[in-house]
Amino acid sequence: MYSQKMYELGTVRSVIRELFEYGKQRAAKEGADKVFDFSLGNPSIPAPQSVENTIMDLVKNGDPIQLHGYTSAQGDASVRQVISDSINRRFGTKLTADCIYMTCGAAASLTISIHALAEAGDEFVTFTPFFPEYRVFVEGANCKLVPCKTDADFQIDFEELDRCITPHTKAIIMNSPNNPSGVVFPEESIEKLAQVLRAKSNEYQHPIFLITDEPYRELVYGGVTVPYVMNYYEYTMVCYSYSKSLSLPGERIGYIAVSNQMTDWQDVYFAVCGAGRMLGYVCAPSMMQQVIARNVDQTSDISVYEKNCKLLYDALTSYGYHCVRPDGAFYLFVEALEPDANKFSDRAKEFGLLLVPGDSFGAPGYVRIAYCVTTEMIERSLPYFKQLADTYR
Ligand code: PLP
Repeated sequence: MYSQKMYELGTVRSVIRELFEYGKQRAAKEGADKVFDFSLGNPSIPAPQSVENTIMDLVKNGDPIQLHGYTSAQGDASVRQVISDSINRRFGTKLTADCIYMTCGAAASLTISIHALAEAGDEFVTFTPFFPEYRVFVEGANCKLVPCKTDADFQIDFEELDRCITPHTKAIIMNSPNNPSGVVFPEESIEKLAQVLRAKSNEYQHPIFLITDEPYRELVYGGVTVPYVMNYYEYTMVCYSYSKSLSLPGERIGYIAVSNQMTDWQDVYFAVCGAGRMLGYVCAPSMMQQVIARNVDQTSDISVYEKNCKLLYDALTSYGYHCVRPDGAFYLFVEALEPDANKFSDRAKEFGLLLVPGDSFGAPGYVRIAYCVTTEMIERSLPYFKQLADTYR
């Protein structure tokens, strides 16, 4: 009558959503000041004024037929040109507009890229901890997700990677800056990863692709640089989104950049077009494409995330919590104070703290704290984090 697989996907429990709903109910009952909701990765700062101004201008002065009409499936050519020029300027690549495919955000970039590459029996390797939707996206393409454990600092463990790559490996999915650990993979790791993938591609006589999921690229702290992966490895597909950098998650806008350094890159690009077509995206939102073209090098004022990060990290570590200092994104991934992070999260709830257990990120024993909230809320929450830690002494 209906697809059992889709039914299961639609009914399976989402811990993050459950916590979020719980927080709303509790806030309604006890007052919003009693709940510290660190569950969702929704940007807490507005889009830049220039984005607002562009939207107003387009609505007032733009051609309404064009503004709200379809664009080419791969996106408006002039918008794609602006984006490829911007990437070339910033990272020294030589992309053309024909390497760019406009999408409805990183989730669409990922599903399209995965479907563009997936053939029956393929495996996609990803590093733990990972964004839980990767499993849904990969299994939805009838492939297998292979989690690859990282080291104690959530950096790539190359021995582990060697064990995870098989003749069935189609691609590696990496995410740096990482949700949920906040870790950035440094240049040495990317260079080594490229070497490993080239060697394995030679051994298995087929390219192993690198899909790099980059919605947090601009959200980095303390002068950390995020290497532009395409400059290190030919078979790279960048899945970008403006959800976090421009605080536009509800507008659904991003792109895929297919490296033109891979052999037959145009065929891969056509496969991307085919996957976008099959998945029914038609085209990315037309007005948002125009907005991006006029704000391509802007970001929201992300300084508040760095401030929140420092405040939470310093306080929590002084209370005895352990976590890797994040280089970027807006999450802290903290060791739970008991082996079962779900039980720890339940105990945190008693103090009004909503922390997401790490199990669905492939990292049991941790909780994720999304600090894309007001600094004032973090300040008010700190005594409760301390009280929670004290209950374990
Ligand atoms: N990838 C990662 C690592 C994310 O954290 C998110 C959203 O939180 C996404 C992809 C999806 O982002 P978008 O809203 O652009 O689809």
